[in-house]
Amino acid sequence: MKDDNSLANGGEPPSNHQLQSLKEFHSAGRGFWRDVPDADWNNWHWQLKHRITTPEQLQRFMPTLTPEEFAGVKLANHKLALAITPYFFNLIDPMDEHCPIRQQVIPRIEETHIASWEMSDPCGEDSHSPVPGLVHRYPDRVLFLVTDRCAAYCRYCTRSRLVSNATGYDFHPEFDKQIAYIAQHPEIRDVLLSGGDPLLLSDEKLEHLLNRLRAIPHVEFLRIGSRIPTFLPQRITPELCAMLKKIHPLFISIHSNHPRELTTEVRDALGRLADAGIPLGNQSVLLKHVNDDATVMKAHLQKLLMCRVKPYYLYQCDLISGSAHLRASVRQGIEIMAQLRGHTTGYAVPQYVIDAPGGGGKVPINPDYVLSHNADRVVLRNYEGKIFEYPEAPDGTPTCIPPKEIEEPQLV
Ligand code: SF4
Repeated sequence: MKDDNSLANGGEPPSNHQLQSLKEFHSAGRGFWRDVPDADWNNWHWQLKHRITTPEQLQRFMPTLTPEEFAGVKLANHKLALAITPYFFNLIDPMDEHCPIRQQVIPRIEETHIASWEMSDPCGEDSHSPVPGLVHRYPDRVLFLVTDRCAAYCRYCTRSRLVSNATGYDFHPEFDKQIAYIAQHPEIRDVLLSGGDPLLLSDEKLEHLLNRLRAIPHVEFLRIGSRIPTFLPQRITPELCAMLKKIHPLFISIHSNHPRELTTEVRDALGRLADAGIPLGNQSVLLKHVNDDATVMKAHLQKLLMCRVKPYYLYQCDLISGSAHLRASVRQGIEIMAQLRGHTTGYAVPQYVIDAPGGGGKVPINPDYVLSHNADRVVLRNYEGKIFEYPEAPDGTPTCIPPKEIEEPQLV
């Protein structure tokens, strides 16, 4: 028997209809700023200057703030500042307390509820920092922190101890020392610029920095991690793209979590970066009420491919202080991954990882597809739950002796 939804969609299963609807591209629109001239609205400096940063502004634009949000906003400047670009604010549904965009940028009082296992530096970056602003945790690559400022602030930010300077961390990157350290370490072949958001630097400053890094002979390629394409697509100007094009090989990892963040403005901005020959990847964080749902996740990932972006990592939310209300469970993460692998294009499937608490680095997390690894075979489960075997001799060489029938799989 068809339910009301399937009838309304011409017989299509509700989840398919939801998937297609989430994958539609829309403009963020102009909202409260409909009278602002196009030249201002499309200017990234104007967007930054007119960010929503105070409780009074937020309440004026969104009278539907809940008591939990209002209390969180009041305290934000002591933990992680409030900042939302007008462009991104227009994606919030003011009538929906659980709006997935709202959850990401509007503080809540729950941010002050801190469990004993939560940390201000969950990835142990400070203990792997040989000079201010540089994190050298993996052998052949470094994280180069450029700034403590972002276009907007994500409430689950793993670097919230540092970004926005609300906690008095007093972050001062020292580019000369950071670059000298890289030059003195020939094992470093990959530099990831992050922060804060490197694309907040002016074109000139960013070009100067990238060229200094490019001049180090053993640095093979550069990466930029940025949330700017989704928070402030106006920043992705033709001039910026023309400058970045000169720095190749350069990769950019963007950050988005929900299909509604992928607007027509974002698609156009990403198109400009892709046209400049920059390989694009996306990093998402698994967040409660945002993307902890297989259909939402699939729509997001498929939409990223339409924007010419390869989904790269799906992070289990770090144990950042005051983030429990935003963290989905690892079990949910594994279930979602099981509903992706084999069910959609391989290019759309990110690697799900947990950044091991305290500084252990990224640990890949996968559903169990290897049921047992015996002396003469590997027993596998495919995406449909069907069992297969791959014959193999004990020393790993291919075998010509047919394996016996599969008996009880032995879990590894
Ligand atoms: S943009 Fe990145 S660094 Fe900035 S608040 Fe969001 S997660 Fe943190």
